[in-house]
Amino acid sequence: MYADYSTDAFEEKYTYYGNDLGAAWSPNGTFFRLWAPTADEASICLYRSGTAGQQDLIHRVSMTPDRNGTWIASVPENLNGVYYTYLVSVNGNTVEACDPYAVTTGVNGKRAMVCDLESTNPAGWEQDRSPILSPNYTDYAIYELHIRDASSLACSGIKHRGKFLGLAEAGTKNRSGLPTGLEHIKKLGITHIHLMPVYDYGSVDEANPGKSYNWGYDPENFNVPEGSYSTNPYDGFVRVREMKQLVQALHQNGLGVILDVVYNHVYHTFDFSMNQIVPGYFSRENSQGILSNGSCCGNDTASERSMVQKYIVDSVNYWADEYHIDGFRFDLVGLLDVSTIQKIIATVRKKHPHVMFYGEGWNLNTQVTKENVPLAVQGNAWMLPEFAFFNDTMRDTLRGSVFDYHLPGFVSGARVPKESLLQCFQGRMSWSNDPKQIVNYISCHDNHTLHDRIAEALPQADEEELAKRSRLAAAFNLLSTGIPFFQAGEEMLRSKKTLSGRYLENSYRSSDRINGIKWNRLKEPEVQKTVLYYQGLLSLRKGHELFRMTDAGMVSQCIRLLPNAPEELTAFLLENEKEAIIAAFNPGICGINLPLPEGTWQVCVDNGRAECDPFFCVSGEALVEALSAFVAILEK
Ligand code: CA
Repeated sequence: MYADYSTDAFEEKYTYYGNDLGAAWSPNGTFFRLWAPTADEASICLYRSGTAGQQDLIHRVSMTPDRNGTWIASVPENLNGVYYTYLVSVNGNTVEACDPYAVTTGVNGKRAMVCDLESTNPAGWEQDRSPILSPNYTDYAIYELHIRDASSLACSGIKHRGKFLGLAEAGTKNRSGLPTGLEHIKKLGITHIHLMPVYDYGSVDEANPGKSYNWGYDPENFNVPEGSYSTNPYDGFVRVREMKQLVQALHQNGLGVILDVVYNHVYHTFDFSMNQIVPGYFSRENSQGILSNGSCCGNDTASERSMVQKYIVDSVNYWADEYHIDGFRFDLVGLLDVSTIQKIIATVRKKHPHVMFYGEGWNLNTQVTKENVPLAVQGNAWMLPEFAFFNDTMRDTLRGSVFDYHLPGFVSGARVPKESLLQCFQGRMSWSNDPKQIVNYISCHDNHTLHDRIAEALPQADEEELAKRSRLAAAFNLLSTGIPFFQAGEEMLRSKKTLSGRYLENSYRSSDRINGIKWNRLKEPEVQKTVLYYQGLLSLRKGHELFRMTDAGMVSQCIRLLPNAPEELTAFLLENEKEAIIAAFNPGICGINLPLPEGTWQVCVDNGRAECDPFFCVSGEALVEALSAFVAILEK
């Protein structure tokens, strides 16, 4: 229906290369530029408030056609804090739309707001710096968190429940006096917090956020913080300022900030601002005008079109520049084209060399509107050497398939070939160039939590056994080569059990009771033990470069199966000129004796305990307890 958009002729005529799309504020006037190549007429409506439907038009400003399909207007007044929309006529049909380049909006994202961005900077923002100093992705450890989950429940002891500011609060604790929220997270030893969607999404009414819950994979305004996380969604300044305050607080606590970005689809196809202004331009359709739906969300983004690509590239750069963001996780990145991702990395890295990039490289059925456009799927990882992908093989090997959740994985008793386990531990997949392309995980927001997935496979297991098997999985995941990643609360044996006793597989719009982090559980002995175990594993990983190698050749050289290990054990030997490390994993219900190579081995992980400093020495042989991991080090 709109196939012309993808032709060379259209792109040559209508690709705009400038960096001034949107509303550029200055005290003396605001300059607007809108890309609307198919419009017959365009104007700006200026409003007093940001609430759609409110009859408070200040005045309407006509726009003039300018180069490459853009329309421009200047308003010689100080418009800081004034709300606006665009009124655009295409083929006699007039629509009122938000600015795709809006930097903030009123409630529920219907009206954009002109904003002096500098005025939103918290005190000290100019000095705010990323704490991430290493360029090696394998030095990172990522914690995936939903803003609201961190503080939605009263047991968090957090004042700004469910808000950006809630995660920025210092010194919070639960009723037992144990640290919660940021106070808990900063002790874990992770390097980055990956925030689930914080751009403006549509599924939660910002005027009434308590009424519904959503993960937020339903974008409306890509460059605007979500209003339900701000203390005042009506005032466009507040969401911007509070999100910056959060980034600043995380940076001050030594944590990098990663945004979960969902450019692959939009919430409502034809209500999305760019699709309103340039009908259907943002989304893929086939020759019959049927929308492509590889995302299973009703539409796929046509990133292969020049002005969609530019929009995505501009958007990622904006977050990195304006909000000091340290990394980006791309939802269903397999729907976006390789060239868009390459341009994002190249442009962001020019200014921010340590920003990291990763995503879900699943192969999905999408109808790209141009010929021969490679997509950012795992199989094309070789074209994206600086981009990492989620390693579903690690997940499914350790905990079992996501498609049949009654089947066990390695930690729940499945027999897995040693060679497959070695490949996982080496961060070596058929599609990857090297370990820095591998995001290792055993739980994320999707599918069951780790605890619940193991429980599904082993319905007879008691909580103690589930805890042991969870820790075993964590040891394997966090010590493997690649980039360790885990879902918030995995270290607390997080569960999403319903009142009827079912383990929820998909809680994207379940209640806070299901999704909120249950900080009161920190007093449970198995939970405490597991939190300490995660801390120990992460500090052990940090202390030994053999766990963090970046080069695939070096990994193959330095990590192998330990010779002469008993069949029931999976044991690896990691070795360089400085030291040797044995990492052994016993998913069986009996302890097993492991003959050790000559020397005095210092034990750092044993029977549910993990520490960077060894807690005993052993030589000859070691007992690897049932359902546990064992790590010992020999200095050379
Ligand atoms: Ca919203």
